[in-house]
Amino acid sequence: MVWGNGLPRCHRNYLALCRGLFHKSGEVPENQQKATKMPIKNRYAEMHAEITEWRHDFHTHPELLFEVHRTAARVAELLRAFGCDEVVEGIGRTGVVGVIKGNTTASGKVVGLRADMDALPIHEITGLDYASETPGMMHACGHDGHTAMLLGAAKYLAETRNFDGTAVVIFQPAEEGGAGGLEMCQDGMMDRFGIQEVYGMHNMPGHPVGHFAIRPGALLASSDEFEIVVTGQGGHAAAPHQAVDTTLVAVQILLSLQTIVSRNVDPLKRVVVTVGTFVTDSVASNVIAHQVTMQGTVRTLDAEFREFAEKRIREIVDGTATALGATAEVKWQRGYPVTMNTPENTVYAAEVAKAIAGSVDDDVDPIMPAEDFSYMLEERPGAYIFLGNGDTAMCHHPAYNFDDEAIPFGSSWYSGMIEARMPG
Ligand SMILES: [Zn+2]
Ligand SMILES: [Zn+2]
Repeated sequence: MVWGNGLPRCHRNYLALCRGLFHKSGEVPENQQKATKMPIKNRYAEMHAEITEWRHDFHTHPELLFEVHRTAARVAELLRAFGCDEVVEGIGRTGVVGVIKGNTTASGKVVGLRADMDALPIHEITGLDYASETPGMMHACGHDGHTAMLLGAAKYLAETRNFDGTAVVIFQPAEEGGAGGLEMCQDGMMDRFGIQEVYGMHNMPGHPVGHFAIRPGALLASSDEFEIVVTGQGGHAAAPHQAVDTTLVAVQILLSLQTIVSRNVDPLKRVVVTVGTFVTDSVASNVIAHQVTMQGTVRTLDAEFREFAEKRIREIVDGTATALGATAEVKWQRGYPVTMNTPENTVYAAEVAKAIAGSVDDDVDPIMPAEDFSYMLEERPGAYIFLGNGDTAMCHHPAYNFDDEAIPFGSSWYSGMIEARMPG
């Protein structure tokens, strides 16, 4: 995902309240069992150090895109050690899938849980004792935390198997721009494992640790990219009548593109059209450029506007270039689709989150980064939820770090989805 930077506030009182749910050993007192239907699993308090150790190991050894060989091997090794009924590697190139059957599978239900494993090409400045040992690479989006939390849930589910059905744990490569989730789907993962619904999670700086936030419908935007190459007739700056001023044509196109959002899109809808680069092939003040290249992105929360924006951009580029005597070419690169939570499954996800944290924000504002869990949600109903990461630097910042205090909440939610959707 692509995020802004910043150091948002954390609600420490709330955090302290959440921490109060933990017990270092023994069972949850009976009064608390009654007070909350599904509190943080006490088992996760015991496993906290172990899950944290896995997370720190992943953090020290970040890997990019599909090249997550070490991480995937470690994930597969742990899943086998937990006693998963099946562990399959190499789905979506380096993705790993584990299958855990409940005490009974009479219900015939199969629920998928997904985490991502890849890091980012960012040079870490956290100064942590377990910081990245690979210069220019770090876990700056918390995927080390997601993977560790889902491993924790897998260990717990393989131990307890207190559900009627089959849990499928999905560890995907290449979330950061490589569409690893799409490749796992294209490898036939959903049908092969019979997955009927699927759930995913992302940590969220700025929300208190242990606090969950979700919404039905669009939660994250689609992201498409385009390149426009305008070709005119270069020439001498003093003889514009003998040239086609490509820079002027490109500027007209750039300005007209801004009418898509302001004049063509329903003001209540959310669409962004941004041109991020504008490069002419002239490097002299007395030369009219022959060619100009612009690159940009379209973000939207409404899938219909992806088609519409592409159509309008092509029309504006062609029409403007033709009117001014130039030619133009548009290259379109489709990116991740809108992350669309199925309303019914959003309710299930929010209920489990509320039982763990005591409350849940079930109408959080959508955000405009994109997320490739969207491909899995295109294939199956399900939901994606945010888990607070507290007062940390934003994801993709070189000082970002996943908060280990979030681990028991995240692992509880993952396994809670299995026990709630397939009660044993
Ligand atoms: Zn990211
Ligand atoms: Zn991420």
